[in-house]
Amino acid sequence: MLEKIDYILDRVTMYKLILYVLTFLFGIAIILSFFEIIHLKVHEIIFSVTVLTVVSYIANKIFSFILKASTNSDSIYITALILTFLITPVFSVNGFIFLSFTATLAMLSKYILAIGKKHIFNPAAISVVIAGILTNQYASWWIGISAMSPFLFIGGFLIVRKINRELMVLSFFVSLFLALAIFSFINADNFLTNSQNIFFNSVFLFLAFIMLTEPATTPPTKKLQIIYGAIVGFLYMPYLHIGNIYSTPELALVLGNVFSFIVSPRYKLFLKLKEKIKISPEVIDFSFVPDKKFTFIPGQYMEWTLPHKNIDGRGNRRFFTIASSPGENYIHLGVKFSQDGSSFKRALSSIEKTDTIVASQIAGEFTLPQDANLKLVFIAGGIGITPFRSIIKFLIDTNSRRRITLFYANKISSEIMYEDVFDRAESQLGIKIVYTLTDTENVPKDWKGKIGRIDENMIKKEVPDYKNHYFYLSGPHEMIKSFEKILTNMGIDRKMIKTDYFPGYT
Ligand SMILES: Cc1cc2nc3c(=O)[nH]c(=O)nc-3n(C[C@H](O)[C@H](O)[C@H](O)COP(=O)(O)OP(=O)(O)OC[C@H]3O[C@@H](n4cnc5c(N)ncnc54)[C@H](O)[C@@H]3O)c2cc1C
Repeated sequence: MLEKIDYILDRVTMYKLILYVLTFLFGIAIILSFFEIIHLKVHEIIFSVTVLTVVSYIANKIFSFILKASTNSDSIYITALILTFLITPVFSVNGFIFLSFTATLAMLSKYILAIGKKHIFNPAAISVVIAGILTNQYASWWIGISAMSPFLFIGGFLIVRKINRELMVLSFFVSLFLALAIFSFINADNFLTNSQNIFFNSVFLFLAFIMLTEPATTPPTKKLQIIYGAIVGFLYMPYLHIGNIYSTPELALVLGNVFSFIVSPRYKLFLKLKEKIKISPEVIDFSFVPDKKFTFIPGQYMEWTLPHKNIDGRGNRRFFTIASSPGENYIHLGVKFSQDGSSFKRALSSIEKTDTIVASQIAGEFTLPQDANLKLVFIAGGIGITPFRSIIKFLIDTNSRRRITLFYANKISSEIMYEDVFDRAESQLGIKIVYTLTDTENVPKDWKGKIGRIDENMIKKEVPDYKNHYFYLSGPHEMIKSFEKILTNMGIDRKMIKTDYFPGYT
């Protein structure tokens, strides 16, 4: 069952998924309102979503034109839908003005409350905080009725699984629960009654699943994400107050965003193409010139936005690993293309030197361990080689020796990429490179590498003392899952296996 869910999730981009989940919740809200389970009229909700969407769209167009910034249509609709669920619609001129004001604030916050062109606050949350201060009208979070809980659970589960933020959301729940227990203990209050007040409605689910998970305001590493979840969970506790200022969900999130902003790198790069070279039948290596210097750890990835026409259902953003080392002059990407490719890939393949691609949200922990004495085994399938190219080129650039064996599997020999870098690492640094071809029918006569899939026998033969090695796995989801099984069957502790996988490929 989970495999089927993952299969479907791999076929939809993160922003599209969030948009689909919000649309699904909107549909449910309309049905519940029709049956008067939600005490809002259907026409009021439709009025609200129309005003918020149209005003957000226009405001975003105007701001992006004035400030010459690239726009993302998915995030406009996501913010408009979130605001729809937070603000009680009033079908009147005043209601129209308030909705328009909040939508405009949300869009403006993306450009004005931004440093290094990266926005600091969740746009929906900060707009209702500011609107509340200025107009004394506060978000009601009407979506948070208990009847919505099962649907929020379903949608939230899909989002959290897709973006791998289980621990962050869990830490939010645990922290909220603990804060409540501490509060009840200190005030000699009834913990159960207090809990019911919070957990009986589903505001906390909407906040945790839909808003806390916003990628642009999430810290880059698991550890920081857990702290972030805990901070927002603690601050969310509704009984918390300083004087007359009581905690609200939006205020908790906005304060958490400040933490996230402080601990996150603030890069938003605007890059121009330097060169694109076909390095295998399906892969192009792109080199880009960034508009400013920036640092990253080899093995990390960024989110890439490419504005283009006729954007398909998969949207205009993708994650790509930086295949270059920090020591190189240009930023390299190794990108795989398929015949029935997305509009994003078609636009990327025909990118010109005058076009700009935007990269932000550097993240990822698929990086070398601090301890240089640890023995490592890298296992790559196809395009999964990109983080290893970055790491190994970095070791060459800095002349650093590490005990590494790289297993690199491809179907046919022409699919092997970045061979020059790996051959140099072998001769200069003594890194052992094991190439293998899995299409046994099409092996060249002069082939010196291995034949067949990387399996237990091959690993044991090439790395006899494999038990004290750390394993790094990179490639398609199915490959990662099967290696995790192989390695745990070989007695490798789960803690010694690091994974990176590229959703979007079968
Ligand atoms: C952390 C991370 C790092 C990554 N690093 C890299 C990297 O270095 N290099 C790299 O190439 N990728 C990388 N990826 C994967 C990348 O982000 C894309 O998910 C992947 O390239 C698929 O791209 P695409 O959606 O444009 O589809 P395509 O590559 O165009 O096609 C892939 C599959 O999707 C199907 N498909 C395409 N368009 C549609 C559509 N409109 N509707 C339904 N199905 C469609 C195709 O049939 C095909 O099977 C990384 C992903 C993550 C999460």
